Amino acid sequence: MSELDLMTKIVSLCKRRGFIFQSSEIYGGLKSCYDYGPLGVELKKNIASEWWRAMVYEREDIVGLDASIMMHSDVWRASGHLSGFNDPLVDCLNCKERFRADKAPKAEPGSEVEFIVGGKSGGKKATGVVEPCGYVCPNCGSASLSDERQFNLMFRTSYGPIDPLGSFVNKISEKDLSPDEIRAELERCIQSSAVYLRPETAQAMFVQFLNIQQTTSMKVPFGIAQIGKSFRNEIITEHFVFRSCEFEQMEMEFFCEPGTQNEWLDYWRQARIEWYQKYANEPEKFKLRQHDKDELAHYSDDCYDIEYLYPWGWDELEGIASRTDYDLSKHAESSGVKLSYFDQQKKDPKTGKNGWRYVPYVIEPAAGLTRAVLCYLLDAYCEEKGTDAKGQEKTRVFLKLHPKLAPIKAAVLPLVKKDGQPERAREIVKKFQIEGLNVRYDETQSIGKRYAKHDEIGTPFCITVDNDSLADGTVTLRDRDTCDQKRISVDEAIASVIKLVRS
Ligand code: ATP
Repeated sequence: MSELDLMTKIVSLCKRRGFIFQSSEIYGGLKSCYDYGPLGVELKKNIASEWWRAMVYEREDIVGLDASIMMHSDVWRASGHLSGFNDPLVDCLNCKERFRADKAPKAEPGSEVEFIVGGKSGGKKATGVVEPCGYVCPNCGSASLSDERQFNLMFRTSYGPIDPLGSFVNKISEKDLSPDEIRAELERCIQSSAVYLRPETAQAMFVQFLNIQQTTSMKVPFGIAQIGKSFRNEIITEHFVFRSCEFEQMEMEFFCEPGTQNEWLDYWRQARIEWYQKYANEPEKFKLRQHDKDELAHYSDDCYDIEYLYPWGWDELEGIASRTDYDLSKHAESSGVKLSYFDQQKKDPKTGKNGWRYVPYVIEPAAGLTRAVLCYLLDAYCEEKGTDAKGQEKTRVFLKLHPKLAPIKAAVLPLVKKDGQPERAREIVKKFQIEGLNVRYDETQSIGKRYAKHDEIGTPFCITVDNDSLADGTVTLRDRDTCDQKRISVDEAIASVIKLVRS
């Protein structure tokens, strides 16, 4: 199976089995927007719960937050998102593709490139010379490109019962304005009621730093964790849910004493990669990559990406940035509220006196939840060649998801839909429900097809109820990865599923 085949197979399995659907599909779909179906929602929730458990429940030094998606526009002004959260946008003058300059294929300035006039499906071959920008169109390879212009990735909308276009029309209808003046007037009208869908969850954790520190009396070093939706009007959406306009993040802002940031960055990059590897079949497909100096944001003094080996190569899954005191300082400056911390136990390094007030430094592990869903699906996908009962070649597909991530922990299957087997199977399901586990009753199709379906959706165990179960209280416990079946008592089967799912 080629690596790109794998991606096609994952997308198809996601739709066929109910992990991920195209949004608004019956209306032709909305590009790059996705709905997580009955299994996808469980997988995503399980990844999120594992993150929350590791980041919040298992630690004394991190607390949670669930902030609103829309925030005061001044938040984005102060953070620099309004002026600087841009990607360089370029149009190909040959095939009309719109793309990000920083992700375009590199080419030597002045060198000659060959392309097809009008794009790949066009006619004649032509040649062009690479401009000083040093890249070509990712679609057709042409060097005939527009200038770069900055495109802000934030989604803007209006807040309140205001019609910005109405007030704009009123204003310009009385004046004779140039196109630039019309644009400036339009910006003014829109800006008065503008709000933005957050492009990251992080800013709320800076803005609520003081409320959280004061209400919880947390002492630095401490962190604030949040999981939620973020929105970016991406120039190019790609690779299924890898890059979409609406996605989910799991971010944590860890506030530490100035001067300790390197130590905490080392700690968090190690903790975060180990967290991913714990749930993976192929831990070697996760690696850390330190940013080059010229990649760093101006406020960041160091940064690592956790990368995964996707079918198209190594690419980002999480960023772990040392953000200095930039965010708290900017919000303090802009709001007029002191976002600092007073440590009574420490001496102020400047005065040597007891008590030190400082602006904490921040380490930020910023993960993509929806990107992690894709990663673990890719990591879990397995095909196994074998023969069926008639000796015909067949391929068994199974998702070797970690039991903690698997959407359904076990399926309880009556062999037939009569003789008291359904009732007995439902009693078993009830016992799991009391334990809070998502275990499903399933009586559809033949037993072989049910096993195949649960293999394909990653259910680690099937418990089969037959006539003997009613007579002697035993069931068959089948393992997804090995297909091994063992006959054991109902209580033993339940206990071993619970043990494996919880360990
Ligand atoms: P990229 O370089 O891939 O555009 P980024 O460096 O801009 O990502 P961050 O701002 O650091 O990303 O966001 C943290 C994490 O959020 C990323 O590592 C990624 O997992 C996730 N993420 C960011 N943008 C998207 C998106 N458009 N779709 C899905 N996940 C995203």
